[in-house]
Amino acid sequence: MGVNTTFTMIKPDAVSAGNAGAIMKIIQEAGFRIVAMKKTKLSSERAGEFYEVHKERPFYADLCSYMSSGAIIPMILEKENAVEDFRKLIGATNPKDAAPGTIRALFAKSIEANAIHGSDSDENAQIEGNFFFSAIERF
Ligand code: UDP
Ligand code: MG
Repeated sequence: MGVNTTFTMIKPDAVSAGNAGAIMKIIQEAGFRIVAMKKTKLSSERAGEFYEVHKERPFYADLCSYMSSGAIIPMILEKENAVEDFRKLIGATNPKDAAPGTIRALFAKSIEANAIHGSDSDENAQIEGNFFFSAIERF
């Protein structure tokens, strides 16, 4: 426990549907502080780098083209027990399995276009935050 950080990004389906504001409201009302945030877009190559761990999976090529199909909003978030609590707030990868009221249950379109990312460990939260943000972009 103790204050730690996680990394998230609002994915292209949710940004293009105009759901970014509603999602950020849920995140802030759940007690997360936004340390860094921007709107940006990934190339397919850079999406592939972010999801390198999944490169042998059958969904990898589709995931890279989807994640580079439109704007995303990456954020670094701070809260007690941030990684675990944020995974609970977003819900299961497949929106059909996501608990009612979770961000994916509310906003995901499919198992691929599932509205939002959340880091799965403290170590990956650091790696993923560093992928998008330099030290001077964090407040
Ligand atoms: N994904 C997909 N098909 C699958 C599993 C995952 O398209 O069968 C996508 C989905 O966008 C997911 C991302 O790949 O969020 C990363 O997968 P992971 O298993 O790490 O899920 P997450 O940690 O995002 O819940
Ligand atoms: Mg994951």
